Amino acid sequence: ATMPPLLSAIANAGRHGVLVKSAVVMERLGHVDAVALDKTGTLTEGAPHVTDIRPLADSGLSADALLTLAAAVEHPSEHPLARAVVDAARTRGLHVPPVRDFASTPGSGVRGSVNGRTVAVGSPARLLHGRAGHPAAAEAARLEREGRTVVLVEVDGVPAGTLVLADRLRPDAPATVAALAALTGTSPVLLTGDNPRAAARLAADVGITDVRAGLLPQDKADAIKELERSGARTLVVGDGVNDAPALASAHTGIAMGRTGSDLALQTADAVVVRDELGAVPTVVALSRRARRLVV
Ligand code: ADP
Ligand code: MG
Repeated sequence: ATMPPLLSAIANAGRHGVLVKSAVVMERLGHVDAVALDKTGTLTEGAPHVTDIRPLADSGLSADALLTLAAAVEHPSEHPLARAVVDAARTRGLHVPPVRDFASTPGSGVRGSVNGRTVAVGSPARLLHGRAGHPAAAEAARLEREGRTVVLVEVDGVPAGTLVLADRLRPDAPATVAALAALTGTSPVLLTGDNPRAAARLAADVGITDVRAGLLPQDKADAIKELERSGARTLVVGDGVNDAPALASAHTGIAMGRTGSDLALQTADAVVVRDELGAVPTVVALSRRARRLVV
């Protein structure tokens, strides 16, 4: 027997490095007319590295001491920023002590107890909430405008310093954004938990104008539900635990396999296993071709 068009399309998607979980999904991909993309790990490589370690003068901590505390609380986290912090500590040959009472807030950061001190690492906007005048906030804003990601380290409830991280844009991100815009007739939206300054810088680099930043996981899902209510059939592309609610709310969700968290891979309808963002518009086009053959 000849293979039904949707099954051939699934096999074809596989050859392009995309695992499509069912024929229903393969069919739906061709219907999407609005696309929302996550930033870190989706439009960027998701392999950030620490470029600066900046203890605040009054913290009494050295750069190594600050990094050690941060790496200890980041150790259990799956987040790309967490991996970068732990790698930086290892590269410097630092001993990373164990963490107790670890807690993670997706889209915000992590906290735990290290050597009897309570350490939090995460978004300066969230940790400095209500302390907008703090010098660390102004410094973070300056670096973020340059497209850096800044995380704040807080020790026993007091800001102790910042870690500056840089990530690279995926080389095929601008072409992918353009291809998705051409296929759907609408320009893609950027949904990110990162701050508005870093988000604006990246959006300009990839050709996105609709930017929604500082979003918690549920905010991302709400943005998708709003698009769906207005009649759009959305495609969400994401990788993090923080993207899972949006992936679930979308008409179709695609997760990035290499950077993707287990939850994102399970929740998504399809997975880009061969780390190429450019495969996303390819599978949309494959679905359209298969549907033309089905009807
Ligand atoms: P994105 O939506 O771009 O993938 P996230 O929602 O994962 O970004 O994270 C948003 C912000 O929350 C990060 O820029 C960072 O400030 C903070 N954050 C989240 N998880 C962590 C973590 N494990 N360590 C440090 N900061 C974190
Ligand atoms: Mg992400």
